[in-house]
Amino acid sequence: MRVAIGGFSHETNTFNPESTTLARIKQNGTYVSGQDVIDTYRGTKSTIGGIIDGCDAEGLTMVPMFFATHGPTTGAIASEVVHDATDHLVRGAIEAKADAVLLHLHGAAAGQEIDDPEAHILAAVRRAIGPAVPLVVVFDLHANIGESWADHADAIIGYKTAPHVDLYEMGYAGAQLVGRTLRGEVKPVCRLLKPPILVKSGLMSMSEGSLALLKPPMYWLISRAAELSRLPGVLDVTVAAGFGDADVPEAGMTMLATTDRNPELADRIVAELCDLAWRTRSGFETELVLTPVDVAVRRAIESPRWPVILADQGNNTAGGSPGDGTAILAALKAAGWPDAALFVRDGDAARAAAKAGVGAEFSSEVGGKHEPTNGRPVSIEGTVRLLFSGDFIDPHFGLPVRLGTTAVIRCGATDVILTEHPSSQIHPQYFRSVGIEPRTRRIVVVQSAHLFRDEFQIHEQIGKAIIEVDSPGITNPNTRRFAYTRVRRPIFPLDPNVEYAPRSIAATS
Ligand SMILES: [Zn+2]
Repeated sequence: MRVAIGGFSHETNTFNPESTTLARIKQNGTYVSGQDVIDTYRGTKSTIGGIIDGCDAEGLTMVPMFFATHGPTTGAIASEVVHDATDHLVRGAIEAKADAVLLHLHGAAAGQEIDDPEAHILAAVRRAIGPAVPLVVVFDLHANIGESWADHADAIIGYKTAPHVDLYEMGYAGAQLVGRTLRGEVKPVCRLLKPPILVKSGLMSMSEGSLALLKPPMYWLISRAAELSRLPGVLDVTVAAGFGDADVPEAGMTMLATTDRNPELADRIVAELCDLAWRTRSGFETELVLTPVDVAVRRAIESPRWPVILADQGNNTAGGSPGDGTAILAALKAAGWPDAALFVRDGDAARAAAKAGVGAEFSSEVGGKHEPTNGRPVSIEGTVRLLFSGDFIDPHFGLPVRLGTTAVIRCGATDVILTEHPSSQIHPQYFRSVGIEPRTRRIVVVQSAHLFRDEFQIHEQIGKAIIEVDSPGITNPNTRRFAYTRVRRPIFPLDPNVEYAPRSIAATS
């Protein structure tokens, strides 16, 4: 049996002014077609890596079509990108003459003209393959799923974890579902329902730890979804948390259920989950768990146990910040440059430091150039401690990272790591790649909302304390601070007194 595989993955922050063009994806992302899809991802713990291994295990013959991804997150996607991905996948699906199509679509793509690029792709692929060929989609938890997805796909399944530790497993599960479908063991039918809830990508961690205790709704939703997924006839239940950093009509949470020939059961499951989300929505309020920048830095300095990790919520590059935020940098400077390490994206400054050379005295205004709410440039003076090409392998995904020209500037006891490209430090290796062992530092700043927790907190147990810093910038988790104009209204928490009554029948009754 032949399965056409491929997809398109971009998490778009529409508040980020840097548009996502084809040139940018080809330069900084991954853009592969044909056999290169398999050669690039086989053996990696990525979603496509899981799809490949799953297809092998199911005895399915893969016909690789096309896959493009770009991270960290940037702004609205140029239409040329959406049309290019659609053309590749439609042509690939037609030429593959496959028995099924298995796609990895992130779910939080947003185009400059096309609101829901994944819906655009799905509609086109479905038109190309006709109604009878099974089409299965694997998506990211941070997906803004459009209502029309279920019109085109037979099964839509997503990650169940944040930080995401099951990308590979969900890719694999998608392949298994295709195998079972093609053998006639199951006939998937998918339903989705969207409660009027908008959550940004910070503060939806489900990992064990203080944040999970403070922010229970996602934990309870995922737990209930897992129970429901074990009911007879249920193939998958996924809670898509949504991606509130994209101001598009379909932004927000989505409940999805895929069953074996049982649309009524799928309807009941998504209604029950919407009801649970609605009843627990106040847990998504963010004010309680964020700490002001100067308070966070002072607490970190005074902490008797270290390292203290400062999670730079407003400057989260994985969520779409350009990565040149200076709020914490300025607070560290004001505190007299304590023992700390942090990344600042500033290509000009990094190149100037490289030109000056290791050991040279260096002074420059750094950061604060790409996004007006992210803090002003901060002038630093220090010594160039290390220069680096910026290429290394991120052990978390087993995939290459390109920081571009990178320079470590020592200011007092603070190491300011200047990079040409934005990065999200989800693994200690980002620091180790420039000779900094985060375990030995007092303060470690990560431009990450929660993805860092998997490696730093769970695997290596590096942070003795983690402080969620209420830094300014477009990825600050408080939706009320942003001017949304496109998202469907009314929606919690932007609008007061939203009335909502899902068809709340318990799925198990
Ligand atoms: Zn995600």
